[in-house]
Amino acid sequence: MAAIRIDGKGVAKQIRQEVRARAEALREKGVEPCLAVILVGDDPASHIYVRNKKKACDDCAIRSVQVFMPADSAEEDVLREVRRLNADPAVHAILVQLPLPGHIDEKKVLDEISPEKDADGFHVINAGKLFTGRESRLPGTPAGCIELLKRYEIPISGKNAVVLGRSNIVGKPMAMLLMRENATVTICHSKTPDIAFYTRNADIVVSAVGKPGFLPGDLLKPGCAVIDVGINRLEDGKVVGDADYESCEAVAGWITPVPGGVGPMTIAMLMQSAISAAEQA
Ligand code: NAP
Repeated sequence: MAAIRIDGKGVAKQIRQEVRARAEALREKGVEPCLAVILVGDDPASHIYVRNKKKACDDCAIRSVQVFMPADSAEEDVLREVRRLNADPAVHAILVQLPLPGHIDEKKVLDEISPEKDADGFHVINAGKLFTGRESRLPGTPAGCIELLKRYEIPISGKNAVVLGRSNIVGKPMAMLLMRENATVTICHSKTPDIAFYTRNADIVVSAVGKPGFLPGDLLKPGCAVIDVGINRLEDGKVVGDADYESCEAVAGWITPVPGGVGPMTIAMLMQSAISAAEQA
């Protein structure tokens, strides 16, 4: 039997409606929730992402402020802009679009954002809070993966989960969140010798590697859940995930498509993070 296709687009729409209701409730109390985005440089993909975030804000009744800075901005200028937004009580959440130009220290800029306003949850304090099991702003992509598992009532507690990839923005926080939900978690990376050994025993596989066809169906345990974070553009322009969809669909119990799976959730969770920041402020 083919796997259940997890409709990330549909769930994301639902979350955005929930966020909108919360934003309207805040507006009735005289608070206009606001997300500020800083974009440095002219990377076309980053401009598209920022435009999509603005659209999502409009959709969720969240005011969006966009700060565009030239590619040759000095690091100190970017830091000053972050500090200005930190100090502005009308701004509740801040996001710095990555990647930053090479001459700017990304970590330094991210850590300058006030942890309470850190919409992406990349601040070292928020990462530390996640690590130590305290409430914090969460990175949107892994938080979105957990939300999909929960909304599809896929069991996590007591299950074996394998995370492919160990980046700070996806793999590591994903593993922490799965552990918080009481899964037994294994993280695999480029130095893991026999990935199939782990995935074939996994009830949940989250793939965040960034290689098309990395996860074929014969690496899976029948009935497992496949959460495909990968976004890979092929030469013909087609966008695919890490999972070989057809062969995985034939073995898995649930699977997220690419596009239309994890991608829309990332932005929906960003909206959720921004509205939480506004409510807490
Ligand atoms: P990243 O920083 O490049 O990390 C990739 C990870 O994959 C690394 O930990 C790397 O291991 C591991 N890896 C690479 N080759 C491997 C191999 N042959 N076997 C096992 N592991 C291997 O990427 P990222 O930022 O986490 O993103 C991962 C993917 O998710 C990309 O396709 C990205 O576009 C996508 N993404 C999607 C969303 C979304 O909204 N859906 C959001 C963010 C990212 P090492 O650490 O050993 O090098």
